[in-house]
Amino acid sequence: MTRKRPDRTARRADERAARKLVRDRERLAGLERGGSAARPIEVGTAAVIEVRTGAMKCPQCGGSYDLGEHRAEHGLRVVAVTCRVCHVSRQIWWRIVPAGPN
Ligand SMILES: [Zn+2]
Repeated sequence: MTRKRPDRTARRADERAARKLVRDRERLAGLERGGSAARPIEVGTAAVIEVRTGAMKCPQCGGSYDLGEHRAEHGLRVVAVTCRVCHVSRQIWWRIVPAGPN
């Protein structure tokens, strides 16, 4: 008599689905504004970057971020962040576009 393991099979399928969901969310996070150097968030002044980064939520779990290193790269600003809940690390990209008359 063949013993089937439907529970185990279902669990594996769930795990696969969960991993795929994580990957999909990370890909979406990369496509969002600020998720990559190609899509920086535009701000008028560097002064608001940390406040706005601190107000962002982790796309994986909705947790808030611990702010890490803040650096300039390719004329952009990059803030390294780590989710306080799921501990995913990512980078938020910003471009400073001064407002006002030229
Ligand atoms: Zn998270």
